[in-house]
Amino acid sequence: MKLSDAEQARVVEVFSSLQGEGVHLGQRQVFVRFGGCNLHCDYCDEPGTIPIPSGDVWPVHKLKARIEELAKERPHAAVSWTGGEPLLHAEFLQKVMPWARERGLKNYLETNGTRVSELRALGALCDVVAMDIKLPSATGRQTWSEHLEFLRVVPEKTFAKVVLTDRSTEAEWRQVIRLMQEVSTNIPLILQPATDFAGRGPIAPALCLKFFKQAQALLKDVRLIPQFHPIWGLP
Ligand code: SF4
Repeated sequence: MKLSDAEQARVVEVFSSLQGEGVHLGQRQVFVRFGGCNLHCDYCDEPGTIPIPSGDVWPVHKLKARIEELAKERPHAAVSWTGGEPLLHAEFLQKVMPWARERGLKNYLETNGTRVSELRALGALCDVVAMDIKLPSATGRQTWSEHLEFLRVVPEKTFAKVVLTDRSTEAEWRQVIRLMQEVSTNIPLILQPATDFAGRGPIAPALCLKFFKQAQALLKDVRLIPQFHPIWGLP
């Protein structure tokens, strides 16, 4: 019998590590990396997860068993549902997120911030929404209107992160700040200089600090946090 999308999903890997980005940096989490993404960022550090389909088919029971196994080895604060784009697997998340909560693990959603209706369906089950605001210079696409609606769904649980590269522009940064102001100046905004990857460079430090000061003048919680996995040598 063929399983439905709620009962199985494409998963690339499941592992235990420390959260390496954003406001929960250093927290131990179980990472569930889904396969498939609706964007194609030029700085993507998991390019193997972009194709649809990618990863192996995991039924719900197999994923639960693997999470249990990892959770028994040491305490974890949350399951990080990541990818790829986890919201491409919304029906599956609908099934496994309530179970993770019952199991005592928070639901930490790492998303590219474009799948609005899926977040509306799952917002109540999420404890943290770690959302990217994608710049057109990195994706080749304008996703401002999706990001605006996405930020409005569960702003009290959301923080936004922008990966800044040597192609990020001042006009894009002004647009990011306007977007945040339009929803709430209380939502944390993280500036994350891109990790040097495949010849794509990070933003120049002086420009990054300029962006930081501009945002800090208009928003209440602005932080500059690099990606720590490569520094710590973690997966
Ligand atoms: S949204 Fe994330 S997974 Fe998708 S291409 Fe961009 S960085 Fe990679």
